[in-house]
Amino acid sequence: MSIQLNNQALWCEFGLIGGDWVSNGSQGFYHVVNPSDGKPIAELPRMGKTEAEGAIHAATKALPEWQAFTAKERALILRRWYEAILEHADDLAKIMTYEQGKPLHEAKAEILYAASFVEWYAEEGKRVHGEILQTSRLDQRHLVLKQPVGVGAGITPWNFPSAMLTRKVAPALAAGCTFILKPAEDTPMSALALARLAIHAGLPRGVLSVLTGSREDAIAIGPILSKSPLVRKLSFTGSAAVGKKLLEQSASTVKKVSLELGGCAPLIVFNDADIKVAVAGTMASKFRNAGQTCVCANRILVQKNIYNRFLEAIESAVSELKVGDGFEEGVTIGPLINKKGLEKVDEHVRDAERKGATLIKGGKPASHIGEQFYEPTILHNVEPSMLVMSEETFGPVLPIMSFDTEEEAIAIANDTPAGLAGYFFTQDAGRLFRVGEALEYGIVVANSGIFSTETIPFGGVKEAGLGREGARQGIEEWCETKFFCVGGL
Ligand code: ADP
Repeated sequence: MSIQLNNQALWCEFGLIGGDWVSNGSQGFYHVVNPSDGKPIAELPRMGKTEAEGAIHAATKALPEWQAFTAKERALILRRWYEAILEHADDLAKIMTYEQGKPLHEAKAEILYAASFVEWYAEEGKRVHGEILQTSRLDQRHLVLKQPVGVGAGITPWNFPSAMLTRKVAPALAAGCTFILKPAEDTPMSALALARLAIHAGLPRGVLSVLTGSREDAIAIGPILSKSPLVRKLSFTGSAAVGKKLLEQSASTVKKVSLELGGCAPLIVFNDADIKVAVAGTMASKFRNAGQTCVCANRILVQKNIYNRFLEAIESAVSELKVGDGFEEGVTIGPLINKKGLEKVDEHVRDAERKGATLIKGGKPASHIGEQFYEPTILHNVEPSMLVMSEETFGPVLPIMSFDTEEEAIAIANDTPAGLAGYFFTQDAGRLFRVGEALEYGIVVANSGIFSTETIPFGGVKEAGLGREGARQGIEEWCETKFFCVGGL
C-alpha cells in the first residue's frame, strides 16, 4: 500500500459485520485497483451469502438497542461522525482519488458534501414529528406516529463513493434504522474509512455493516438483501438495469424501495441566454468527475441564433481542461473508472461519427496518459437517434445539436424514460416558468450547472427512480406512518 495518510487506520482492508472487522471472505479475495494506472491498491474479502445473512442478523439484533436511543442521542453520534469526517477530510479525499481517480480538489469537495448529509440528518432526526388529528368520534383520539422502517440496506455506486453513502446511511440512522451497506466493488475504501469513523463516533455494534466483494459477489448479495423479510427497505443508486432487477426481487417481500437510476440530462441553451453563464454551466455540469455523474448534461440543445457563438465559446473552454492523474496539480479530468466505462464512451463517439456527427475536439482515448483516460470531446451535428443523445454516456463527451423552437426543444428533451435532471438557460422570465414546468424531470435547473446540496430533494421521475434523497423528504423515506387510534375514552 503506497498511500500515506495522516491516520493510517482509515485504510481498512476488511469488511464490517455486526461490529467486527472481518479480513477473510467466504468467497476469497479480490483487488481494488487505481483507475489511473490499473495497479492493485488493496486486497479485500469477497463476501457472499454467509456474510450478508450475518449482517442482516446483526442489524436485526441491534435494532431494539438503536431504537431505544432518543433521537437526540442518535443525533449526537451523527454529529460526532460529521465532525470526524471534517477532521479527516484530507485523508478521505486522498483515499477517494486513489481508488476512484477524480481530481483531488473534487474528492475534497465530495467529502464536504458527504459530511453535509450527516450534519443535516443529525439535525433533521430530531424533527421527525407525528400528528394528532381532529377526531371524528369523541370517544376516540387519532394519532399519526412516524416510526423507523427497521433494518435498511443500501447498494451504492462508484462515482460518488462517499456522498452516495452518507445520503442513505445518515437519514436511515437518524430515523432509528440499522443499516447494511454494499458499496461498489471499485470504490469500497472510501466506504470503509467512513464506517471506521462512524464506529469511532460511537455507533453501537451491528447498527452498521459493510459487505465487500467483487461484481460477481454483488450479484449474489443483491437477492439476499432484497428478498429477506427482515430487511424492510432497500435503497439503491446505480444503473437502471440493476435497479429494475432489485425492484423485482424486492416485490416478494413488498419492502420499501428507493431507486436513483441513471439520467440522460438535456441541457438547453435558448437564443436569449447569457452565453457566459450558459458556457460556465455546461462545463460544470458536463465535465465534473470526467462526465461520470448521473446528473451530467448528456445532450446539449442550442437554439439556431446562438449556436455558432456557443460552439466557439465552449470549444475554447474545453481547451482549458487538463487530463491526468487526479493527484497531479491542475488536473481537471481524471481517468474513467474502468475499461468497460471507457469502451462505452468510445462506442458512443464512434456511433455518432458513423451516423454523421462531426468531431470538433478529442474523440479518442488519451492513451499517452494511461489506458483509462479519454480526451474531452465535442461532437456537433448530432441527432436524437445517436447513442450519445439517447443513452447515458458517462464520460467527457459533449454532443451538441441545434433546434428552432421552444416546443421542439422541450419535445426532444422529454423524449426519454430517464427523468432525473434537466438544465436550461434563458433570460426570459416567461420562458423560465414555461420550460421549468414543462420539463419532465425530478430536478430542473435554470441558468446553472451545479445544484447539489444536502438541503434539496434529489431524485427522478419516470424510469430514473423512486423516492427522494436529501432534504426533509430524505428522512421520510426511512419512516413508516402508523395510524394509532385510542378508543374507549
Ligand atoms: P455501474 O454499471 O455504473 O457500475 P451498477 O448498477 O452496475 O452501475 O452498479 C451499482 C452498484 O450495484 C454497485 O455497488 C454494484 O456492485 C451493484 N450491483 C451490480 N449488479 C448487481 C446486482 N445484480 N445485484 C445487486 N447489486 C448489484
